[in-house]
Amino acid sequence: MTTDYLVLGSGIAGLSFALEASQFGHVVVATKREAEESNTRYAQGGIASVMGKDDSFELHIEDTLQAGAGLCHRDIVDLCVRSAPERIRWLVDLGVAFSTVAREESVEFDFGREGGHSRRRVLHVEDLTGREIERVLVERCRASSNITVLEDTLGIDLFLSADPGGRARVGGAFVLNRNTGDVVSIAARATILATGGAGKVYLYTSNPDAATGDGVAMAYRAGARVANMEFFQFHPTCLYHPKAKSFLLSEALRGEGGILRRLDGQRFMEGVHPLKELAPRDIVARAIDAEMKSTGDDHVLLDMTHLPRAFLEQRFPHLLGTCLKYGIDMRQEPVPVVPAAHYQCGGVQVDDRGRSCLPGLYAIGEVACTGLHGANRLASNSLLEGLVFAHRAAEDLREARANLPQPAEAALPAWMVNGATPSSRAESVMVSQDWDEIRRLMWNYVGIVRSNRRLMAARRRLDLLHGEVHEYLLSTPLTPDLAELRNLCRVARLIVESSIKRQETRGLHVNLDYPGTDDDRFHSDTLLWAGVRSELVF
Ligand SMILES: Cc1cc2nc3c(=O)[nH]c(=O)nc-3n(C[C@H](O)[C@H](O)[C@H](O)COP(=O)(O)OP(=O)(O)OC[C@H]3O[C@@H](n4cnc5c(N)ncnc54)[C@H](O)[C@@H]3O)c2cc1C
Repeated sequence: MTTDYLVLGSGIAGLSFALEASQFGHVVVATKREAEESNTRYAQGGIASVMGKDDSFELHIEDTLQAGAGLCHRDIVDLCVRSAPERIRWLVDLGVAFSTVAREESVEFDFGREGGHSRRRVLHVEDLTGREIERVLVERCRASSNITVLEDTLGIDLFLSADPGGRARVGGAFVLNRNTGDVVSIAARATILATGGAGKVYLYTSNPDAATGDGVAMAYRAGARVANMEFFQFHPTCLYHPKAKSFLLSEALRGEGGILRRLDGQRFMEGVHPLKELAPRDIVARAIDAEMKSTGDDHVLLDMTHLPRAFLEQRFPHLLGTCLKYGIDMRQEPVPVVPAAHYQCGGVQVDDRGRSCLPGLYAIGEVACTGLHGANRLASNSLLEGLVFAHRAAEDLREARANLPQPAEAALPAWMVNGATPSSRAESVMVSQDWDEIRRLMWNYVGIVRSNRRLMAARRRLDLLHGEVHEYLLSTPLTPDLAELRNLCRVARLIVESSIKRQETRGLHVNLDYPGTDDDRFHSDTLLWAGVRSELVF
C-alpha cells in the first residue's frame, strides 16, 4: 500500500494531524485496535488554555516551567501556550462542546483548576473530555474521503529508503493485521508516529492496553534519538479496587477540594507542600507512596464528603457513577486510592515542527519529546501538546510537500527479521510470563523512588529478558503480544538507561543515592541513540 502520509495511532495527535493533512494529501491512519481506543479517550480533566479574564500567557508559561524543574525548553513552552486558544477554537469548530457556565449576561467556558495551575484554565466536557474529543475526531476522519482508517493494524517497524539524493529517510512502516496475522508494508512520503505512551511498562497504570511504547521502540530501532525517558509521571490517585484496573480519579477532584487522608482519617498533605493536595503530581504521588510505606497500608483515601452532593453529581457524573459501580459512594465515604504510572514525559526527540532526526519521520503527542514538559508535565498540558504539534507537523508538510519524494511501490521491502523464516509459535505462557516480569520489575525497581542498586538490578534482568525475546522473534511467527513484548522490553531498557545516566534527583526522577536536586552537570536532556541502521535489528 502507498499513501502520502502514514499515521500510526488514532488519539488526539494522530487524528487531528490526519484531518489537517487530508486537506492537501491522502492519509492512512493505521491503529492498533478500534479507532476510538487511545489514552485520549480516557482523559477526564481537560485541556489547559489561557482564555479566562484573570489569566495570562505568562502565568501559564510560568506554571509549566515550574513543574518542569529546569528542563523545559522555554521557546517550546511559549509556542505551545500561545497556540492553545487557536487550537481550542479549531476543536470547537469541529464540534467539541466544552462545558460552559452562565455568568451575568454572558455564557463562558467553565474553567476547571488542576494541580500546579495558578489559575482556573482547564477546558473540559464534564468529566469526559477525552471521550468527547475522540468521538468528534473519529467521526470527522471517517467522513473524510481522503483518510483511510485501518483498525486492528499495529505498526511493528519503520523501514528506511533512499531519497533522490541518496540520503536515508524513513519510507514507511511494516504493519501487522491483528485478525489475519499478515505483515504488510505501507510506503509514504512522510510517516507520523502518534502511538501515545508506555504506561503498560509498569504493573499499575492508568493507561489502556494499547500503551506499550511501540512508537518510541520503533523509532529507536530505526535510528532516531530518544530523550528524557527517565521522567515517567505517576498519577497520585487511581481507584484502589481489585476490579477497577487502576481507574483514574481526575486531578480535578482535588482541584475542587478533595482531601487526602490516611486510613485513620488524618490529613497528610498539609505538612508536605504549601499547595497541599494541589501540589504538583510528583509531590503528591511521592507523599502517598511514603505514607503507604510508613503505615504499611496498601492505599490511602480521597475524601470528597464535605462537598455538596449536588455539586459532585453535576461536576463529576462519570467518576461518581463509576465509583458507585464498584460499591463506593463518594458523596458519603472517602474513596480508596493508589498512585499509578500515567504519562511518559520523554519520547522521540523532535523539533518545533514534530520532526525527528530521521528525514521523513515525525512524532507527535505523547510518543514525542518536544521539550514542553521538561522533567515533569503540568496537568492538562498533554492533550494541548498533541493538538499543537499535530497542527505544526501538518503545516510543515503542507509547506514541504512539493519536495517530498513519492513513495515507490515497486521498492517496498518485505518483512523479515534478520532473514529468519518463522516456523513455530512462541509458547504464549512464556510471552505472558515475560510481560509480567517486566512490569513488576519496573514497578519495584524503577518506580516512583529509585536507587542505583535497583537500577543496576533492573538492567541485568532486562538484558536477560531482552535475549529471550530476541530468540522468540527469530524463531516464531510474529503475534501482537510478541510485538508488544519486544517494544515493552526496549522501552523499559531505555527508561532504565536514562535513569542511570541522570545522576541526580530532578522532577519525576528521584534517586535516593542523589538526594540533592539541580546539579548543573545534568541541566540538559538525556539522549539515547542507537545510530542509523541499514537493516532491521532487534
Ligand atoms: C486516564 C487518563 C486521563 C488523562 N487525563 C488527561 C487530561 O485530563 N488532560 C490531559 O491533557 N491529558 C490527560 N491524559 C494524558 C493524555 O490523555 C494523553 O497524553 C494524550 O491523550 C495522548 O494523545 P496521543 O494522541 O499522543 O496518544 P493516544 O491518545 O494514547 O493515542 C495513541 C494511539 O496509538 C495507537 N497505537 C499504539 N501503538 C500502536 C502501533 N504500534 N501501531 C498503530 N497504532 C498504535 C493506540 O491504539 C491509540 O489509538 C490522561 C491520560 C489517561 C490515561
